[in-house]
Amino acid sequence: MNLSKKLSDALNQQINEEMWSSNLYLSMSVYFDKMGLTGFAHWMKKQSQEELEHAYEMIDWSVKRGGNPEIGQVNVVPTGWGSPLEVIEHVYKHEVHVSEAIDKLVDIASAEKDKATQDFLWGFVREQVEEEESAQKVVERFKLLGEKNVAFLDMELGKR
Ligand code: MG
Repeated sequence: MNLSKKLSDALNQQINEEMWSSNLYLSMSVYFDKMGLTGFAHWMKKQSQEELEHAYEMIDWSVKRGGNPEIGQVNVVPTGWGSPLEVIEHVYKHEVHVSEAIDKLVDIASAEKDKATQDFLWGFVREQVEEEESAQKVVERFKLLGEKNVAFLDMELGKR
């Protein structure tokens, strides 16, 4: 069964969203790097790579199932934040937003009666549980250790 136009278009929207997320995290990585928080920067760059991988997976799926993946224009991402805590809280909020977007995609695949694509998307639903948890953990660790001990968390995140 080929992807319906509706589902193919919805996937394209998500592909664009994943690429935007990748750029957002890359921008955050630069923010941290310029501050000298190289561990945070490393962690964010890994996040950025993961988001690009998600886009690739969706593109490959669309091709495999006769969809029409389109690589569209990616909107500009923020470049400035008030503090490291603000950045990681932004990461957490963004991951929750991505989870909602993936859930909506599952709903569309379900409405289109496309079981294979639903199955494909469940992997992302599970992945989002991990993404939300890991972002939340960083926020919690930051709050627990406090701004003064940011170097300690920086070392931890650098080991990723
Ligand atoms: Mg993603």
